[in-house]
Amino acid sequence: PSTLNGKTALVTGSSRGIGRATALGLAREGALVALHYGRDRHAAQETVGLIEKDGGQAFAVGVELGTPGAVDQLFDQLKAELRERTGETALDILVNNAAATTPGDAPGEVSAEQFDKIFAVNAKAPFLLVQRALGLIPNGGRIVNISSAVTPMAMPPQVVQAMSKGALDQLTLHFARHLASRWITVNSVLPGATDNGGAAFQVPEVRGPMSQLSAFKRLGKPEDVAEVVVFLASDRARWITGASLDAAGGSRLG
Ligand code: NDP
Repeated sequence: PSTLNGKTALVTGSSRGIGRATALGLAREGALVALHYGRDRHAAQETVGLIEKDGGQAFAVGVELGTPGAVDQLFDQLKAELRERTGETALDILVNNAAATTPGDAPGEVSAEQFDKIFAVNAKAPFLLVQRALGLIPNGGRIVNISSAVTPMAMPPQVVQAMSKGALDQLTLHFARHLASRWITVNSVLPGATDNGGAAFQVPEVRGPMSQLSAFKRLGKPEDVAEVVVFLASDRARWITGASLDAAGGSRLG
């Protein structure tokens, strides 16, 4: 059965990787999905095509997050597209997935500019997106923040990434309390090493050790994480809010 028929969703950074799999999963359940991308319009359009071929509904919105006015631009585009397709601007599901990553440098080598960029995209943009979405999300809506399994661990090369995701987890916690009166749930999903199709994951010297992190001894697939997000977006997850769901294949089991 399609659990999200008649619902609308925005997934940031859904031109590829986990965001793309999430957009596909939400659309398969019947949601009209706004696929947000930063630069790769082609990949976003390709994903819209895949969803439509599958009988689903989607459209692309492109805005580079972390730049001045980006969130306002995103919502202007989103509202216009929603109005055209549904006659209104209700947004039932917001998935904050887009993120900037550190090159994996030693902590001492991260520049102030890199730090600012990572916080602008990974923490400030989701905060502004949630703020703006509040006017559009009806009672019973859903917010899912894609955090990272690095937040409860110590991984020095990932320190700035983890700091930004720690801030995102705080967004989850405080807005879950703030929005409970409207039956809106807010949760974090924490992926572990997930093969997003990027070049680094195809290098055997990287892929080998990364695969060993999970208790199942393989890399995560974008769909492994997307299924968790789709569940949280459904009515079945109505009693879960303010939670951090590990979607890392037991990476913390040692
Ligand atoms: P990818 O690197 O494969 O894709 C990132 C997506 O975010 C792309 O769609 C990209 O769009 C978009 N994006 C990045 N920066 C910006 C920006 N400034 N403005 C707008 N869009 C932007 O991501 P993953 O699938 O690997 O990761 C998805 C989420 O999961 C992220 O939050 C990440 O931190 C988290 N995660 C991933 C892990 C992994 O191993 N893959 C591990 C732990 C957490 P475009 O290319 O069009 O610019």
